[in-house]
Order: sequence, then structure tokens, then C-alpha cells
Amino acid sequence: MTTLTRRSFGALIGASATTLATPGLLRANSTGRLVIIGGGFGGASAARFARINYPDVDVTLVEPYPTFVTCPYGNLILGGKRTLPQITHSYDGLRARGVNVVQDRAADIDPDARTVALESGASLQYDKLIVSPGIGLRWGAIDGYDQAATEVFPHAWMGGDGSQITNLRAQLEALPEGGVVGLAIPENPFRCPPGPYERISMIAHYLKQTNPTAKILAFDSKEGFSKQGLFEDVWAELYGDMIEWIPANQDGRIVAVDVQNKLFISEFGEEHRVDVGNVIPPQTSAAIVRDTGLANDTGWVPVNSRTFEADAARDIHVIGDATIAGPMPKSGYIANSTSKTAVSAALADLTGGSAPSDPVYFNTCYSHGGEDYGISVVAVFRATDDGFEATPDSGGLSPRGPLSELAENRRLEARYADAWYDSITRDMFS
Ligand SMILES: Cc1cc2nc3c(=O)[nH]c(=O)nc-3n(C[C@H](O)[C@H](O)[C@H](O)COP(=O)(O)OP(=O)(O)OC[C@H]3O[C@@H](n4cnc5c(N)ncnc54)[C@H](O)[C@@H]3O)c2cc1C
Repeated sequence: MTTLTRRSFGALIGASATTLATPGLLRANSTGRLVIIGGGFGGASAARFARINYPDVDVTLVEPYPTFVTCPYGNLILGGKRTLPQITHSYDGLRARGVNVVQDRAADIDPDARTVALESGASLQYDKLIVSPGIGLRWGAIDGYDQAATEVFPHAWMGGDGSQITNLRAQLEALPEGGVVGLAIPENPFRCPPGPYERISMIAHYLKQTNPTAKILAFDSKEGFSKQGLFEDVWAELYGDMIEWIPANQDGRIVAVDVQNKLFISEFGEEHRVDVGNVIPPQTSAAIVRDTGLANDTGWVPVNSRTFEADAARDIHVIGDATIAGPMPKSGYIANSTSKTAVSAALADLTGGSAPSDPVYFNTCYSHGGEDYGISVVAVFRATDDGFEATPDSGGLSPRGPLSELAENRRLEARYADAWYDSITRDMFS
């Protein structure tokens, strides 16, 4: 075990000693305090699961935003198939289950004192801590792409207050006739491997109806991508020559942007003028796990594959996109399913239960290609002594073939995707 870096923690604890938030206090009949940082796919799922299965444990969820905007189905806003309210979720369901939802941001963690310092100056005491704060953007990895640049070239890769996805949608609505939409797509690892390609499809779906001579240039820092054959079929079948995918070996890696002149600049110095730009920058884990020393030099958090306890600290379990969990993808599905293992493992010694000994993790990533057009990839993973492995001969991809033969299959997969979204968000927030 290494010791966490205590960035300015002494000062925060000193300031907050008199303002200890009520949720950190142990109730008379409580068997322990579980604090969860991050109210997204991992954190909200963990909070709900803990309240249902460990009713004697005090559960506190720390999340800075008053509501949660999902990234899944955000691309459907671009496609005109969903609205922001339809993908915005309230924490009231969790409150009704007895979760103490604290609207604040975790600023620091002290693993020795077992406290979480909050940005407001308050502090929470925990017996077990679950951390699911998601990703951070690697500012500076693309020259000229900073916080201000996200207003011109939105990333729309974190839910936040929803303004990034609505900004991108508004720009698509204002695209001049025959205009150019550029996407800059990062190298692995990044959140949601099929996400950029679903986004390309949904933008094309919208433009086909409103601006059919528009072009989509997808600049990729990779030479291949998730569900590639299936996406290429969708693009050829539904969108003709509207979409051009430019891989890294054809100078697709975007290394700089000029927001004033709306330029994407490639590795070999080519300048591409775009009318609308969506920059999905290279990613790392959220600041709270990097600043507290839970992440290693890769920028991601190494964890025990059976318990999700962080290698760097006892009683702190990290789940979701912030972790090193390859070959499992950084997906909402994985964050949700692994949250249950992490809660069971974390609370086993508080409640006298047993931790899962041989957990199995499932993932399905659905993508929408167009109207009534769904595709998916399914995989099953197991924990091993030194990480995670895909289970051979399990899972698979949607079949490939002409749409004339597969229309019903594609229609059904789109319905399954909708059902998945409804059920996973219920499993998080109801
Ligand atoms: C366009 C797009 C489409 C996607 N589609 C799918 C899909 O179809 N299926 C799928 O399975 N996955 C999909 N994903 C991936 C999915 O969104 C992520 O994998 C998932 O959100 C990861 O869950 P998480 O808990 O790690 O992070 P999040 O869900 O992002 O939750 C993190 C939460 O932590 C909060 N937080 C951050 N820092 C702090 C702090 N210091 N203190 C307190 N709170 C903090 C944040 O505000 C946030 O609410 C998609 C992603 C994108 C971008």
C-alpha cells in the first residue's frame, strides 16, 4: 500500500472541523457509514444497491450537480430522437430510499482519518468509501483546446449540466446548407468505445433530413474502432457519401485546433476548416482520484479485480471509468454491474456478510445507427488474480448483412436499446 498524497488536506480539515456534515454522523442503529463520491452510473447504482441490500448502513452520496444528465442517449439528442429532459434524472428516488444526497464536490480524501473533505468546507466521516467520479479531459493534449474552446467546439463527452450536448445540437441546427461537421476522436483508452461512431450516425441521421448535402469528416487518432464493420454498413446503407472516416494512418490525428478560424490541425500540419466541430479530447480519470494519489502514472486507478479496492488505499473502492479494468470497456453498463460487487465487498466486513469470490461482469453496448436501427456488442468478463479477462466464446456482435435481410433484427435491437436505457436508469435512480 502506498500513502496517498494529502494535497492541502490539513487546511481543509482544520477549517471544517466545526462543520461536520450530519450525514457523516453515525445513526444509533447503524452498522456503518458508506460514503460514495459521484452520482453517475457507478455511484448512483452503488447507493441504490446498498440501501436495498444493507438497510442498516448509512449511505451518503456526494455529487455536485442537482440532477444527472446521462451520456448514453445524449447522441440521440443530436439525432433529434430525444430531448434533454428525457435524459435528465433526479436524485429524489434515492433520497426516498434514505440515501443522504449531498450536493457538493469532494475536494480531498484522507485514508488515515477516513474523511472526505468537501469543496464547501464540510467533511464526511466514512467507514467505507466508494469512488466513481468518471473521467477528466486531458487539457493541453490538443493544442488550443481549453475550457473556453469547449464553447466553440463542444466535447459533449460528460453529462454535467447538459449544456455541452445542447450546444452541439444548436450548432448542427444552424449548420449552413452543405456545411462541414468535423469530429476529432481520441486514442484508446477513452469513455465508451463505440460512442463517437454512434454520434457520427446520429448526426448523419439528423442532417439527412434537414441538410442532405452536408458532410461529416471524422478525424480519428486510431486505425480501427469498436463495431467497425457494423458502423460502416450503417453509413453505407443509410447515408451514402455524407460520412468520411479518416484514420490515423491517413493523417486523421488532430493535434491542434484554432477556434477563432474554426480549424482542425492534423499531425502532419494539414488544416481543415469546419463549420461545426466536435472535439472529443484524450481522457484521464477525474481530478479527485488523480489529486489524491489513487491513480497511478497511467492517469487511471489500479484496483483489485474482485473487490475494486484501490491498490493505493484500504477501504476505498474505485469503480467505473476512472479505473484500469481492461479489457472491460469504460461503459455505463460495466460501472453499474461492478458497483454491486464493490458494495458487497466493501460492506462485507461491516455487516458480517461475505464478499463475492468469483465475480462475473457483463457488458452490452447498444448503438443507434438511424431510425429503427440498433446494433450491439456483448461480452462477459471474469476477475483474475492480476486483472480481468474476457470469457472465451461468450458474447458477440450483431449479425452483418444487407439491411433488406436484417431490417427486423435492427428494429428489435433499437427497441432492446431503449429498454436497456429505461431499466439501467431505474436501477440507478428509482
Ligand atoms: C456519447 C456517449 C454515449 C455513451 N453511451 C453509452 C451506452 O450506450 N452504454 C453504456 O454502457 N455506456 C455509454 N457511455 C459511457 C458511460 O457514460 C460511462 O461509461 C459511465 O458514465 C461511467 O460511469 P461513472 O460512474 O464512472 O462516471 P459518470 O457516470 O460520469 O459519473 C461520475 C459522476 O461523478 C461526479 N463527480 C466527479 N468528480 C466529483 C467529485 N470530486 N465529487 C463528487 N462528485 C464528482 C460527476 O459530476 C458525475 O456525476 C456513453 C458515453 C458517452 C460520452
